[in-house]
Amino acid sequence: MLKQMQFGNITADVVLKDIKNVHLSVLPPIGKVRISAPSHMNLDTIRVFTISKLSWIKKQQRKFRDQEREAPREYLDRESHSVWGKRYLLKVIEDENGPRVELRRNQICVRANQKLDKEERQKIVEGWYREQLKQNAVELIAKWEKVIDVKVSRLFIQKMKTKWGGCNIATKNVRLNLELAKKPIECLEYVVVHELMHLIEKTHNHRFVAMMDKFLPKWRGCRSILNELPLEIRRWQ
Ligand SMILES: [Zn+2]
Repeated sequence: MLKQMQFGNITADVVLKDIKNVHLSVLPPIGKVRISAPSHMNLDTIRVFTISKLSWIKKQQRKFRDQEREAPREYLDRESHSVWGKRYLLKVIEDENGPRVELRRNQICVRANQKLDKEERQKIVEGWYREQLKQNAVELIAKWEKVIDVKVSRLFIQKMKTKWGGCNIATKNVRLNLELAKKPIECLEYVVVHELMHLIEKTHNHRFVAMMDKFLPKWRGCRSILNELPLEIRRWQ
């Protein structure tokens, strides 16, 4: 059952379902508020609970707005770009033998002909992110296929707006969000394990959670890292 509640200029989606506790989330990218509550819970109780969390909600929403303000990227010198959870400063180096990308101590160097425009520089960097993600994902999938005893047919790396990953249980294809190359590598491992787990358990039920706890005890920490960071830095709306 879905309802909406209004708190000043904040609209919250309220989902009543068969759970024990109230869960409040502020979701990327625009800070949408979602409250999941036990089906029997009184709406006034939910309202009072949410009001007690309003300053936290506003703080989270501010974070998303600040992150959004970093956008859009120009792919120019001294711009900050994350790779596997670490920040690097972009450096464009004129090099006829480009294009290529390399990481130095705290720099992500894009070697390219300076005549390249923003879209072309972006394409080079994104292509490089795609390679990094693919290499690591292939290794992690191979590792976890053995552990969980499943087999993935194909891996797709895509720009995804609302999800970090996905899988098709029938075709056994796994999709990963290109943005994962910017987050700590543990987060990629968590998404890989999560999607592979779906090949044996379709829903996020108790069995699914118990298996996540068994195979990857740190998964909750990874999930909260992914939840607190915006899904993408591109401008929305
Ligand atoms: Zn899932």
